[in-house]
Amino acid sequence: MPTPTVFATWAPAPAHRYGDHSEGPHRLRGLQHLPRQEDGTVWLPADPAPVEALARVHDPRHIAYIEAIAPQGPAIIDYAPTYVTPTSYDDARRAAGGTLAVLDAVLRAPGSRGFAWVRPPGHHATRTQAMGFCLFNHVAVAAAHALAQGLEPVLIVDFDAHHGNGTQAIWRAEPRVAYFSTHQEGIYPGTGDFEDEPQARGRIVNVPLPAHTGDRGYARVIEQVLLPWARALAPAVVLVSAGFDAHWRDPLTQLGLSAQGFAHWAQALVALADETAQGRLAFVLEGGYDPQAVAESGLAVWEVLHGRAAPAGALGPAPYPEPEVADRVAYARRLHGIG
Ligand SMILES: [Zn+2]
Repeated sequence: MPTPTVFATWAPAPAHRYGDHSEGPHRLRGLQHLPRQEDGTVWLPADPAPVEALARVHDPRHIAYIEAIAPQGPAIIDYAPTYVTPTSYDDARRAAGGTLAVLDAVLRAPGSRGFAWVRPPGHHATRTQAMGFCLFNHVAVAAAHALAQGLEPVLIVDFDAHHGNGTQAIWRAEPRVAYFSTHQEGIYPGTGDFEDEPQARGRIVNVPLPAHTGDRGYARVIEQVLLPWARALAPAVVLVSAGFDAHWRDPLTQLGLSAQGFAHWAQALVALADETAQGRLAFVLEGGYDPQAVAESGLAVWEVLHGRAAPAGALGPAPYPEPEVADRVAYARRLHGIG
């Protein structure tokens, strides 16, 4: 196998910060060496996304609202709490624009892969609302861009510990976009039940997981739900909402993935994209609030994208036993007619 080209962008938004808020630039401090290391990555600038690109998935009034409110920051604009600072409109547009740059590069270079290291995150933002630390929904903007290039169906896989309510809501009525999410049940934002979106059975697939679900349980969901479903779907491009808050050390959640578990996610998604989507695969950063866990998990994914072995990570596996998820796997398969 030749070494795959990896396109990436680095947009950590250093001025988008609010006191000791969990969602700050410190999240990425363990990965700051990535853009400086000579590992064959092609780094792209994160220019602000055109307003027209944002407007494919956001109400123009929402875009105008963020533009108008940001200069009045620092300010809290949603109960999560979601904040803005004077740079936030530009930062969020750059996060979306960086994601588009990575996607465009991947689409032009068959066999390449991409990762957009961007802040603020995006998957909670709806068509009309900032939510959950998110201002604009980058992965949804990217999906709309892929559709505009004639690629369909577009698959969005979201392994952030929280459900991507914004992404799901934006695409609930669009048959050309499929959405798959694993997330911890019962936490923010409260959506993502198995039974969500009955009109989109087989297209919007949610697998809520109990606290402490870790590498073994996730592997089961990946092998027995995600992969057979996604192979049948045969996506033209695979976009990934990559949140590293499902790591066992994350302070906001109680899931149990290790860096090795994230490496397994990346291996499965690479294999899926290679098999069905001519390798078209682009990751965008979502959450992840323990800087060391983000660094180890992000690096594990990064190495897999480069075709290299993932380092084990010093944090190791979760220190608690895993709950059984076989019944959930069986239920998801039945509900969506998988297998
Ligand atoms: Zn999250």
